[in-house]
Amino acid sequence: SRSEGERRLAVYSPRQPGASLRRLTLESQLRLALQRRELFAVYQPQVALADGRLVGLEALVRWRHPERGVVPPGEFIPVAEEAGLIAAIGDFMLRESCQAAVRMHAAGLPPVPVSVNIATGQLRRADFLPQVLSELESSGLAPALLEIEITESMLMADVQSTISLLAALRERGVRVAIDDFGTGYSSLAYLGRLSLDRLKIDQSFVRDLRVPGPAEGIVRTVIALARSLRLNTLAEGVEQAEDAERLRALGCDDAQGYLYDRPLAEADLLAKYRT
Ligand code: C2E
Ligand code: CA
Ligand code: CA
Ligand code: CA
Repeated sequence: SRSEGERRLAVYSPRQPGASLRRLTLESQLRLALQRRELFAVYQPQVALADGRLVGLEALVRWRHPERGVVPPGEFIPVAEEAGLIAAIGDFMLRESCQAAVRMHAAGLPPVPVSVNIATGQLRRADFLPQVLSELESSGLAPALLEIEITESMLMADVQSTISLLAALRERGVRVAIDDFGTGYSSLAYLGRLSLDRLKIDQSFVRDLRVPGPAEGIVRTVIALARSLRLNTLAEGVEQAEDAERLRALGCDDAQGYLYDRPLAEADLLAKYRT
């Protein structure tokens, strides 16, 4: 019989060329997508658990692929990061989100902040802060109505410069949220030195809350931590009324998930939430 290594090789090697070709194809198509304006943003409502009122929107990127239909970001964001295209996509999303927020507020949407996901390759660029400020200025969006979402793992690289960057953003009034909280390895001591507004509790915890186990203790602890740092808490992936009930009982402030809404096109969001 063949050794473990050989078997692995036999399984792995025939796939490799196809996988990299597919990736290469995706990469070149993504370059074109930017020029052809195939990328667009959808917006998922965030609501207060206490009374269900709209408190924010998260902007999420979509790609209308000419042959494949709408491609989810999980499939192309990693490719974009590796191909050096993430900055261009990030710039597009930042601009689009600021402009859309201004349009929606003018059309009667309550003046809630829009949250934009920031990739590592975007945050680390020297011109990130000026870029944000320039998008705010050209769109006319008030800084307090923009929130940037960065993941916990992004915090741990280049600690000192991240601390000063986040402080600079918040000095200008921009809000900062930590995305997917609980899935990375951020040091608790260091969390207190960061200038933040919100912790977004990862949807894996919300899912785990549905069965008996350690998730409840973990979520309780995260909420206590957030309180002591005076941070807002938002739970992601809230799909069931029971999820919302449990999170409310645990003292979580806000929620986002299919129970309330899927990410929506601007027109659909307005139709539902304009006042
Ligand atoms: P994320 O930032 O954690 O975004 C939340 C994801 O959960 C979104 O997936 C959203 O559609 C999905 N979601 C919302 N409610 C529920 C729910 O109740 N149940 C479940 N199962 N899922 C729910 P999406 O839009 O496919 O985005 C996936 C990831 O791609 C995002 O995760 C984020 O990491 C990345 N992403 C999306 N848009 C952007 C962007 O503009 N820039 C960057 N850098 N990353 C983005
Ligand atoms: Ca996010
Ligand atoms: Ca998240
Ligand atoms: Ca995520």
